[in-house]
Amino acid sequence: MIDYRVPNEVKEVIASLDRFIEVEVAPLEKEFAKAIEDERFLYDENGYYTKEIQDALRQVRVKSAQAGFFTMFGTPELGGMGDQFGPVAAALIHEELMKKYGFNLFIQEIFPPGLFTGGLSPVLLGLTPKLREEILPKVRSGESLLCFGLSEPDAGSDVWSMKTRAIKDGEHWIINGTKQWITNSPYADYAIVFAITEPELVAKRKGGITAFLVPFDQKTCINTSVIPYLGSVGSNIGIISLEDARVHEANIIGKLNDGFGAALHGVDIGRVVQAAYCVGIAQWALDRAIEYAKQRKTFGVTIDNHQAIQMLLAECAMDIYAGRNMMIHCAWKMENQKDIPLKEISIIKAFNTEMAFRVVDRCMQIMGGMGLTNEMKLEKAWRWARARRVPDGTAEIQRRTIARRLLKGDLNFN
Ligand SMILES: Cc1cc2nc3c(=O)[nH]c(=O)nc-3n(C[C@H](O)[C@H](O)[C@H](O)COP(=O)(O)OP(=O)(O)OC[C@H]3O[C@@H](n4cnc5c(N)ncnc54)[C@H](O)[C@@H]3O)c2cc1C
Repeated sequence: MIDYRVPNEVKEVIASLDRFIEVEVAPLEKEFAKAIEDERFLYDENGYYTKEIQDALRQVRVKSAQAGFFTMFGTPELGGMGDQFGPVAAALIHEELMKKYGFNLFIQEIFPPGLFTGGLSPVLLGLTPKLREEILPKVRSGESLLCFGLSEPDAGSDVWSMKTRAIKDGEHWIINGTKQWITNSPYADYAIVFAITEPELVAKRKGGITAFLVPFDQKTCINTSVIPYLGSVGSNIGIISLEDARVHEANIIGKLNDGFGAALHGVDIGRVVQAAYCVGIAQWALDRAIEYAKQRKTFGVTIDNHQAIQMLLAECAMDIYAGRNMMIHCAWKMENQKDIPLKEISIIKAFNTEMAFRVVDRCMQIMGGMGLTNEMKLEKAWRWARARRVPDGTAEIQRRTIARRLLKGDLNFN
């Protein structure tokens, strides 16, 4: 039987996260208040976080690891505690963080991004024992950052059309290509790079792509730039250039020619976590909108008296209730059923990312001009929510998965 109550152990984690944020994050927020308020002080002239901000973000990761949060949902075989905290706990904790604090640069560093593109990602299960020994301690401690280099200028949804190529040279592989839109690549120590190793298999879409662990050596594997988007002057998303990057065959992650087998590990929990963050940000925005509506007066009454505003609030509530319950139900299925609930994961990824954007947008409208100001922080949430509809499989690709599942006979909604 599914239980929608928040378990006690999750409540305890949330309480200790609150303490962590008060002790470790709040002082940083104070110290870097100017940069948080004004992006001109957050990024350097090339769009990278300033050195001070990079150090502060690293500090959060390292302290989070020391406090046991950073590896909390990590794969147990890699030294994480994912066996104690499954998808339901991951969803509820991520939801709560966003609900309480909204989008917050430093708080976002407490857990690795999406739980699969950084930290103790299950993708790393494919590392050789020697490489595990070499890199995992630094990953576990939050000192080393990883990034997940799959997308390319001509390969996003259709990853099979990638061009990055790896050619065998004795015991080594030589990799050439460009990776684009890679979260954390501007600041990472290692990239998980997907490259074509067997073009004939790729042409048939039957394999032929391999995942490699490639260190950023600043010569053959470089982050060449950051991608500013949605009006920002910088970001944590980068472009990686690989020019004759030479790695030993021991750097293959998982099996040769089966890179997508490695890539798919962890994508599911990543989507659940994104869906949970979306539920959280929607509630955060609604709280603010209600508070505002109770104070702001027009035509002699506070605007919460106007039916038009009440309709907007009600629509937000309908969206949040649907998104939240689907998210918990899906996480519960992941935790308690043998088969991965592919249809449901795609449903919550598509619905909740779109839902968060709708809710934040309505909340901005409720605040009129104030909703558009940087001061209310809704515009930051709006930009964050808008961006979520693209990575980890676009909303359209999720719909494609849902339809395919339906057409294969998966009509179960229990
Ligand atoms: C903030 C952010 C972070 C990201 N982080 C990473 C990362 O860490 N690592 C990484 O490898 N990539 C990352 N990406 C890239 C992301 O995975 C791709 O942007 C995404 O897969 C879409 O690819 P595209 O942008 O090339 O769009 P395209 O694939 O070119 O799609 C363009 C449009 O066509 C639609 N479309 C495409 N094919 C179909 C179809 N068959 N049916 C219906 N509609 C279709 C898409 O939904 C979209 O609306 C990130 C992107 C963003 C925005």
